[in-house]
This record gives sequence, structure tokens and C-alpha cells, in this order.
Amino acid sequence: MEELTRLDAVRLGELLTAGEVSAVEVTDAFLERIGEVDADVHAYLRTNRRGARAAAEEVDRSRAAGEALGPLAGVPVAVKDNMVTEGLETTAASRMLEGWIPPYDSTLAVRLRAAGMPILGKTNLDEFAMGSSTEFSAFGPTRNPWDLGRIPGGSGGGSAAAVASFQAPLAVGSDTGGSIRHPASVTGTVGVKPTYGGVSRYGLIALASSLDQIGPVSRRVEDAALLHGVIAGHDPQDSTSLPDPVPDFLAAARRESLRGMRVGVVRELNGEGYQDSVRASFEAALELVRELGAEVVEVSCPSFEYALAAYYLILPAEASSNLARFDGMKYGLRVDPSEGPVTVERVMAATRGAGFGPEVKRRIILGTHALSAGYFDAYYGSAQKVRTLIQRDFDRVFTDVDVLVSPSGPTTAFRFGEKIDDPLAMYLNDIATTPANMAGVPAMSLPSGLAEDGLPVGFQIIAPAREDARMYSVAGPLERALEDRWGGPLLEVNAERLAAALAAGVPSPAAGAPAPAATQGEIR
Ligand code: GLN
Repeated sequence: MEELTRLDAVRLGELLTAGEVSAVEVTDAFLERIGEVDADVHAYLRTNRRGARAAAEEVDRSRAAGEALGPLAGVPVAVKDNMVTEGLETTAASRMLEGWIPPYDSTLAVRLRAAGMPILGKTNLDEFAMGSSTEFSAFGPTRNPWDLGRIPGGSGGGSAAAVASFQAPLAVGSDTGGSIRHPASVTGTVGVKPTYGGVSRYGLIALASSLDQIGPVSRRVEDAALLHGVIAGHDPQDSTSLPDPVPDFLAAARRESLRGMRVGVVRELNGEGYQDSVRASFEAALELVRELGAEVVEVSCPSFEYALAAYYLILPAEASSNLARFDGMKYGLRVDPSEGPVTVERVMAATRGAGFGPEVKRRIILGTHALSAGYFDAYYGSAQKVRTLIQRDFDRVFTDVDVLVSPSGPTTAFRFGEKIDDPLAMYLNDIATTPANMAGVPAMSLPSGLAEDGLPVGFQIIAPAREDARMYSVAGPLERALEDRWGGPLLEVNAERLAAALAAGVPSPAAGAPAPAATQGEIR
């Protein structure tokens, strides 16, 4: 039998469908792998051993009874811990929600369960999905499987690291400004942010509601396409959910060449501030895009230069409003003032002071300021105007090209502690990813290879709204051409290196990187 944890989701699905392996065997293999390596990687905040096994047994029973099952039935999945899961603790990596066991499922969880996908556990993130390194998790950072002394990106570093260290064949993330694509790019995985409204946000703990979108994380493009098909589709519980039918993303990813495609390289997303070897890897992949038959042209989107500044006004404004619900009255933590009268205001202040970490507090202060009387027009109003300009830039260039491409982020994975005390340096990681969120268009990151430092680089593909399938039809052929060059999937290249690093033991936490807190374990 092949080593199950090393197989991608498409292959696992085939073996399960053919009855060559049982869902319980597959789930057990991943649970065992988690037991072996996650004390070092810390991709999971908690595992769901009993629940995952029960779901797998159910799939095996249904298959034995001859029921028709979907292509991912029995393929396990990891879920970012900002999506609510009934009966399974959900914290958004915040002290504020520690111990909170949701009484209901997000639509995402409902769909995963309906597809027969066992949920292995909940993955780590920066608190409330704010950050680019997972260092802002209240429960300790996740390590990058390519170098255990480095960050796995953020905010969804746990989902990406789980996939990159063979602790899950698939995972789910949320992307408000890059939280699926940035971790994907620095861990050599594939991450997709669908069109806004493509995947229901019901039960996603809101960060910035006009930007948030749930999407797949995987080892290969075809795996992401399959999972995307499972989680997409209209949901009356989310008023921004699109009514569109779900196309066959897998068929799109299996397109053979890029002949007839016009690919636009965004000038503003590939210049100053990008690491030289990131650009070199991007250019090399672009050469393959040409060899596959596409016409590559340069396009300009001048408003993108202001995207990051506008994003860091709109996001905190919406976040400060969304986070107002964490007041000690209804969910999670409640802290009474240590002295003096116990009034509503004083309980709220004590609870929020104790429950939120530094980055969350920073954003609440920024957002409240940007929305305050006298500053509203100058900050929030101007940011909304920039947002309109970004949408117009996309509309204009998409009359000329089919998709846009850029590096997914400016650098490869950095070391723990390197940017933690410098919010602006941390925010700059989102330079290439935020424009897609601001316009609601779909975007994905797939690995283009390794930089000079031996770390993975991400290649971003952006398509017009509702054209997610087009993105896959570019990514699929490109990935196959890249894998021919590497002699297999990029993560396989890292498998031996990872084994050696895990055997050598984890480096002592760098300055600024707290040791993981002992939160991992079976759910009560
Ligand atoms: N780095 C971005 C931020 O900190 C990512 C947010 C996200 O996509 N959840 O805002």
C-alpha cells in the first residue's frame, strides 16, 4: 500500500471510490501523522479524533450499502478555527472565545459533512484572522514545514502548514486580504480565494464582511478544484451569496494548453519591494506560460498602489464594528472588574482588555478612529473611493486580457520575530493580495518553485468576478508543466528535508515567538 498521507486528494478519492482503501484507514493514517509531527509544527489548535473517525465509519457504511458518494467522500479535511463547527470548540485563536463550543454548524461545515469529508481538526491562525505570520495566535505560532524557524504565513498558517506537512490532504481557509494565498505562497501549497459570494460565509467569524471569502487549500490545483466544487454554491443564509450554478472546476483544471489565452502581468504588482529571487521565480514561470501557448502582455493598474493603504482603513473599520459583539455578555470570556462597581461598561472594558491581543486592539483603535465623526470622510470615505478605482482598473484590463498574474507576495517565509514589532512591515506582506479582495474578484496562489534561499514562491492568478473556472484553466496546465520540471509535486521535494528537520528537533523559539501553549488535544 502506498503511504496514504503522501497521496493527494484526487488520488485518495480514486482509491476510496474503487474500494481499494477504506475511509477509516485514510482518516487513521492522517490522525497518526498528526500525532507524530504536530507537537513540532503546531498546525492544529485541536484535533477531532472521535468525530473524524465516526464520519469515516459512516462513509464506509454508506459505500458498503452501495450508495452513490461524491468524489471526496472519505477524504479528510482540516478547517481554520474561525469557522464554527457544532460541538467542536471554535476560538479564532483568541482568548476571547477559548472554550466556546458552537451550538450550530457553519454552512461550510454542513457541506463538508454532507460530502462525507471527515474533519480532522481546527487549524491555527492569527487572532481573528489579523496578521501574516500566525504569530498573533493567542495559542502560539505555527511553524513552516520548509524551515521550522520560519513563519508559515498568515493568517491561515495552520491550514497551509497542515497540508504542507502531510497532516491533511486538504484544508479550508478564509481570505480577507490574502490569508489563504499568503500562507499558500510561503509553504509551497495551493490556495484559492473564490469570487466574493461564491462560498457561503454563514458561520464564518466575520473579520471584514465586505472582503471575507472562504476557500480551499491543497497540495495540487486539481485538489483545490474538487474541494471548491464541494463548498461553493448558493446559500440563502448568506445574503451576499451568489445564485450562480457551480461550474466543473476540475474539468477546467484539466485543460491541456493555454493557447488562445491572453495573460496580463500587472506592472504595479511586480516591482519595488519584491525580493529578487521571488521575481526571478515568477519570470521563469511566466516563460512556461508562454511556452504553453498564451500571449503575455504587460498591463497597468495605477490604483493598485493605493490598495494596501485603503485596505488598512476599510478592514479595521469593518473589524471594529464586527468585533463589538465580543463584550463579555454572550459568548466566551467574561471578566469582571477587579475592584469597584460591576457595571455593563466596566465589564465590557475588563473583558475586552483581557480577551483581545495586541494586533486586534490596534485594529479596533484604527477602525474606530477611521469611522469617527470628523475623520470619516477623510479616511473611510477616501478608502471607499480608492476601492471604486480598483474595481474600475480591473474592469478595464479585463476587457483586454483573460487573467492577470503576479507574484503572490513580496518575499519568501521570514523568521519568527522578524516583523512582529513593526506593524507596517507586517502589513506589506499583503501588497499583492489585497486588490482582489477590494474588487471581489477570484484569485489563487500556486507554487512557482523555490527561491535562492530554498524556500517556496507563490504565483498569483486573478480572474474576473464569477470566472473562477478560468483561473483553474490557467493554473492546471501551468502546474503540470512546472511539475515536469521538478520531477513531481513541489511538496514531495520537501518531504525528505522535512523528515530530517523533524528528526533534528525544533529550533528554540526565536525572539518574539512564544512557545506553543498546551491547547492541543481532544475536544472535550
Ligand atoms: N494579512 C492580512 C491582514 O492582516 C490578512 C487578513 C485576512 O485575509 N484574513 O489583514
